[in-house]
Amino acid sequence: MSGYKIIVMIKQVPDQGSKAGLNPDGTIDRARAKRMLNPFDRFALQAALHTKNTYGGTVTAISMGPPPAVEILLEALAHGVDQAFLLSDRRLAASDTLATAYALYKTIEYVGDYDIIYCGLQTTDGDTAQVGPQLAERLGLPQITYCEDFSVKNGKVRARRIIEGGHQEVEVKPPVLVTIANSYHPLEYKSFRGAWRVQRLQRDKEALEKIVKTVNLDDVGADPERCGLKGSPTIVAKTEKVGELGGSCTMHEGESTEHMVKEVVASGALNEFLAH
Ligand SMILES: Cc1cc2nc3c(=O)[nH]c(=O)nc-3n(C[C@H](O)[C@H](O)[C@H](O)COP(=O)(O)OP(=O)(O)OC[C@H]3O[C@@H](n4cnc5c(N)ncnc54)[C@H](O)[C@@H]3O)c2cc1C
Repeated sequence: MSGYKIIVMIKQVPDQGSKAGLNPDGTIDRARAKRMLNPFDRFALQAALHTKNTYGGTVTAISMGPPPAVEILLEALAHGVDQAFLLSDRRLAASDTLATAYALYKTIEYVGDYDIIYCGLQTTDGDTAQVGPQLAERLGLPQITYCEDFSVKNGKVRARRIIEGGHQEVEVKPPVLVTIANSYHPLEYKSFRGAWRVQRLQRDKEALEKIVKTVNLDDVGADPERCGLKGSPTIVAKTEKVGELGGSCTMHEGESTEHMVKEVVASGALNEFLAH
C-alpha cells in the first residue's frame, strides 16, 4: 500500500505556565490563559508526519475548539500537515468526553477516507485519555494505544505498545486508530517550506480558508442534542485549587538502587521531608 491517508487529532490547551486560574464556578479561566498545542499531541503530529514522509501520503489535522484553536492548526501546517479542519460551534460548550468524541467522530466521517488516525495519549487539561479509544469505538476501528514506536510493512502497522511491566508488539491492518505515547520521538522543527506556506496563507484569507476549513455541527451532520451540556452525562461535582506544588529536588545517581537509597538516607533529606 502506498499513499496513506493520515488524520491527526490535536487539541489546544491552556499553557500551564500562564497560571490562568479558575473561574468562581471552578472551571478553567480559558479567556485569561495563554494557549498552546497539547504537549502530548506533538508526539501524535510527529508520528503522522513520519508516516507521510517515510511511506507517502497526506496528513489532515482535526481539532475541536473555539476559533483561536486555528493557531495550532497553522502550527501543524508549518510542520508539514497538508490540510486542517476546525470544528467550532458554541453548542459544543461544556462538552464532556462522550460529547467531544461524538462530535469529533462526526467530523472524521465528514472529512472522509482515512487509513491511520493518530491521537495523543491524553491532554494536559481534560487529562482523561478517553477521546482516542472512544473515537476508535465509534468508528468501529481496531486501536493501538500507548504506542511508542511503529513501522508500516506489507500494508500493516507494526507497533510496540507499552503495557504494565513491559512491551507488546502488535500488527494491525489499516484502517486503525493509534494513540501515541510521549516516549515516542519528539516533534521535529518546523520545515522552512511549511513556515513559508503558512506565512503566505495568512496574507491570503481565501486561500487559507481552503486549507484550514472551519466547520460547525450542521456541516458535519452532528446532532446538537448529543453535544455540549445536553449531550454530556458527566457532572463535575466540585473543583478545588490545591495551591502551588514545588520544592527543591536533588538528583542521586549510582550503580544500584541499594546504593542510591543508602545515599538518600545518609543525606538526611528523608527526615527533612518527613518533618514537613
Ligand atoms: C462535565 C465536563 C464539562 C466540560 N466542559 C468543558 C467546557 O466547557 N469547555 C472545554 O473546553 N472543555 C470542557 N470539558 C473538557 C472536555 O470535555 C475535554 O477536554 C474533552 O472531552 C477532551 O477530553 P480530554 O481533554 O480528557 O482529552 P483526552 O481524552 O485526554 O485526549 C486524548 C487525545 O484525543 C484527542 N483530542 C482530545 N480532545 C480533542 C479536541 N478537542 N480536538 C481534537 N482532538 C482532541 C487528542 O489527540 C488528545 O491527545 C469538560 C469536561 C467535563 C467532564
